[in-house]
Amino acid sequence: MTVYDDLVGQGPVIEQLQSAAAAGAQALTGEGGGGMTHAWLFTGPPGSGRSTAARAFAAALLCPDQGCGHCASCHQVLSGTHADVEVVRPAGLSYGVRETRELVLRAASSPTGGRWRIVLFEDADRSTEQAANALLKAIEEPPARTVWLLCAPSPDDLVVTIRSRCRLVTLRTPPAHAVADVLIRRDGIEPDVAAAAARAAQGHVGRAKRLATDEQARRRRAEVLAVPGRLTGVGPAVGAAEALVKAAEAEAKELGAEKDAEETAALRQALGESAKGRMPRGTAGALKELEDRQKSRTTRMKRDALDRALLDLASYYRDLLVMQLGAGVELVNAERARELRSAGGTPEATLRRLEAIMECRERLEANVNPLLAVEAMAMALRTG
Ligand SMILES: [Zn+2]
Repeated sequence: MTVYDDLVGQGPVIEQLQSAAAAGAQALTGEGGGGMTHAWLFTGPPGSGRSTAARAFAAALLCPDQGCGHCASCHQVLSGTHADVEVVRPAGLSYGVRETRELVLRAASSPTGGRWRIVLFEDADRSTEQAANALLKAIEEPPARTVWLLCAPSPDDLVVTIRSRCRLVTLRTPPAHAVADVLIRRDGIEPDVAAAAARAAQGHVGRAKRLATDEQARRRRAEVLAVPGRLTGVGPAVGAAEALVKAAEAEAKELGAEKDAEETAALRQALGESAKGRMPRGTAGALKELEDRQKSRTTRMKRDALDRALLDLASYYRDLLVMQLGAGVELVNAERARELRSAGGTPEATLRRLEAIMECRERLEANVNPLLAVEAMAMALRTG
């Protein structure tokens, strides 16, 4: 067992991190001339394991055996309780300058365990421009024992000044068979179910697990894939668009409500809630602040859920294109092969439909009203 066990299909990345952890250990003892890189940027498509890789690397840097996976230090890092690792997870749509400045100050304090002080910044692409400037200063002149691990979908998501000061770690979309293997081995899922879920999730490890274990998630995905068959007229197309948006909202609400309740309970307790559930004076502000952050997180989760649904829909047309071109590659939605075969249409029309989905995703990213954007897409999908 090592700290890298949860990384799926990322052999080259694991090798890179192992030798970097070895160089880090040498830098601590003063042996070798390699030195330590203080800023790292982990990139890769959603679900490929950017933050899993960053966390594993943090554990390897702090472990006396460079990432054994079973010592106290490794356990603490992997379970998120190590005093020298701070994980930053922007709750809302963006991360502000005040929060970043405070973070930079905390990051400069010396490590309690004598090795490194590590900041793991998930979704670093969500920092505001001013926040990025504050971060840049910290990365330009890093304290001797501070290491920044930034995560973002691609290098282009960060300003070039930050990007150019980071060493890149590039994760790939793991192949479906590697994802299926891990579901079988780690989660004890039946091989058939694991294989179908891994294909449907298209390399997103977490989503594959949800599809394999959560009946609701499977049902929602099936509803999305039924959309093309429902576009029989303008009325039904509008109805299908509305259903898509509503389903994404419902999913985000369900996932968000669970997190919100846990966080609120933890904060109320930390602020000194009485046995009868009364809060001490002067704590209303902190609770309100948490509520605001949770609201903006739910907004982001709605957007993410809708984007995931659009990617599922795109997988349908991608499969259709594979059929139309006789490309002979594996279908994402193999269970729909018969329906796809009888769908008819030309490859050109299918490509136009795929473009309509991608355009809709771009418009949502640019904050267009979701219902309007998805309706426009549904109309384009109908006519082809
Ligand atoms: Zn260890």
